[in-house]
Amino acid sequence: RMVRRLRHQGLREDLQQANVRSEQLNTELAYEVEQRRLSEARVRHLTRFDELTGLANRRMLDKTLDLEWRRAQRSGAPLSLIMIDIDHFKAFNDNYGHQAGDEALRQVAQTIKANVRRPADLAARYGGEEFAVVLTETDAAGTRLLAEKIRVAVEQMEPANPDTPKLTISLGACTRYAKPGDDQEQLLRTADKALYQAKKRGRNRVMDINETGVNALIPKPAP
Ligand code: GH3
Ligand code: MG
Ligand code: MG
Repeated sequence: RMVRRLRHQGLREDLQQANVRSEQLNTELAYEVEQRRLSEARVRHLTRFDELTGLANRRMLDKTLDLEWRRAQRSGAPLSLIMIDIDHFKAFNDNYGHQAGDEALRQVAQTIKANVRRPADLAARYGGEEFAVVLTETDAAGTRLLAEKIRVAVEQMEPANPDTPKLTISLGACTRYAKPGDDQEQLLRTADKALYQAKKRGRNRVMDINETGVNALIPKPAP
């Protein structure tokens, strides 16, 4: 009987140890699973958002434009695109360094984002120091208004780094009522043309090319 009791106790201890080990393994496994879930979420996030600014990236912009263009073709609603480019940003980088440049890019991005509030609208980093805003169901007048609001908001930004000067942006806007068969590329091309006009006419301004092909210039307000 003595022997049997001892053997019994031994088995119970083994079982307890096995339980402890199994709990440890479960905890480790849960940790591994969570780590993997996080890194997958991170990768998924990087496929849609720009790492420096947190805005949508070029890929998401292209997808959104594609989707909204086709939606607009069906609904007949206007679709607008604003292209934004920071003025004289090369000189800014050359004079104050790449790090200050990156900080300024982040600040401009946040200012753009803060003014693009409707859930169907999209603010994206197009690349380098260029941004794009997609506005659904917004006509040329509404688009010009928002573009001008963004221009003023950037002009009024206090530099994140007090040693660097204020920044301005130039904006090119385009509004289209897409017909079936219309090429989506024309929205980007036209907004880009408007942006070029804004640069040529002296920067820190909004140029808009709308359906009638007329350039509506918002004069730069006196300082
Ligand atoms: P403009 O008024 O005609 O737009 O002049 P610009 O100097 O802004 O135009 P340009 O295209 O010649 O220069 C763009 C500069 O933006 C080049 C580079 O120094 C800077 N840049 C582009 N991408 C980045 C970035 O990711 N980080 C930083 N810090 N700078 C960038
Ligand atoms: Mg540029
Ligand atoms: Mg520029």
